[in-house]
Parts: sequence; structure tokens; C-alpha cells
Amino acid sequence: MIQPHHCPVCEKAFPARAEPGVSSFPFCSERCRKVDLLRWCDGRYAIVEDIDPQVAQFLKDNPGLPGPRERNAISE
Ligand SMILES: [Zn+2]
Repeated sequence: MIQPHHCPVCEKAFPARAEPGVSSFPFCSERCRKVDLLRWCDGRYAIVEDIDPQVAQFLKDNPGLPGPRERNAISE
């Protein structure tokens, strides 16, 4: 039996299989997919990980490489 999947945004249960042409999976709808995207854009979601000291030094030596967010994290 296929367990229903719960939408990570509205928590509504829906069939877990990703059907061809349904691009909103793992969300229940296009609306919930956009809500999730907006949360990332707002900065409400973030991936936090330690930066290897060698990588931090490399990024300091090459300020043109990563985005401004990573550079700010190093200079603090
Ligand atoms: Zn939903």
C-alpha cells in the first residue's frame, strides 16, 4: 500500500507518487511549491554548515568567487 505523502507546507495528505507532468511534487500544489520558494527567498530557510578553514582562506584570497552572503560570513 502506498502511504500518503504530506505536503511540507500545508501538511495536506496526497498520493505519494510523483506523476509525470506534476512538477509541484513534493508539494500538493503549485501554490505550496511557490510558498516554499518564497520562504527560501525571504531567508526564513537557510542551510548552516561550518566552513573549512582552508576554504575560508581561499574565499578571502578570491573575493570575486562566491556570493556576498558567504563573504560576509567570513569577515564577521
Ligand atoms: Zn500543500
